[in-house]
Amino acid sequence: MGRIRTLVVGAEQALMRFPYGPDRLARVVTGSIVLFGPPGAGKGTQAARISSLTGKPQVSTGDMLRTAVATNSDLGMEAKEYMDAGLLVPDEVIIGLISQRLQQPDAKSGLLLDGYPRTIVQAESLEKIELVVAVISIEVPDDAIVRRIVGRRMDSETGQIYHVEFNPPPKEVADRVVQRKDDNEETVRSRLSAYHEQTAPLAEWYSDRGVLLRIDGDRGIDDVGDSIESVLLKLSGADA
Ligand code: AMP
Repeated sequence: MGRIRTLVVGAEQALMRFPYGPDRLARVVTGSIVLFGPPGAGKGTQAARISSLTGKPQVSTGDMLRTAVATNSDLGMEAKEYMDAGLLVPDEVIIGLISQRLQQPDAKSGLLLDGYPRTIVQAESLEKIELVVAVISIEVPDDAIVRRIVGRRMDSETGQIYHVEFNPPPKEVADRVVQRKDDNEETVRSRLSAYHEQTAPLAEWYSDRGVLLRIDGDRGIDDVGDSIESVLLKLSGADA
């Protein structure tokens, strides 16, 4: 009974008017949206489109940690060895980072969380401070992941993600693309096992709370994006 009430109240809040995005998305969710899935599922690739659709700022914990590593901050120095080994950084480190980010003014209507939460402990902590209205689970089988990640490149200026084979960078960008240090086959295997052991159980956790939206991510970028857009339109009631 308590859970049903929580969901009803959550749904009412979800139908508050949203000031951004195209007209058909005028009524969208207040609260955060979580992008969920294995490394290389396409969370970062899809984030820009979802962010412009919903007006929610994208927040990638991986990007925040990489910035911390690049600037040699205390946080970066602590996180680096876990990241290089393909392991998750300790919950207490990452929970503090997100709690602070949620206090920024632009987080008021919710964030688009990319790569967070990744453990049940993180999800439980998030639940205490933020309404999660949708968890978009982008599902891709393991064998496709390795091929995707090893060919992944990033524009060092804009952060835009490409793939040498599936989504090659345009000529003017090709010279400045970089490969992430942890995008090699050995580290990918560790990241995949961390995903299966620590992160995958969260799908059921969110499914029990009625917010999990499953998307077949083993397709082209636009097809996956179209499916995500259509579930978000349904969620907002804007497809009616
Ligand atoms: P990503 O860019 O999301 O693939 O994250 C890169 C690396 O950052 C991961 O392999 C982890 O070491 C670390 N990381 C990012 N997000 C989290 C998180 N929510 N919890 C723990 N570690 C994280």
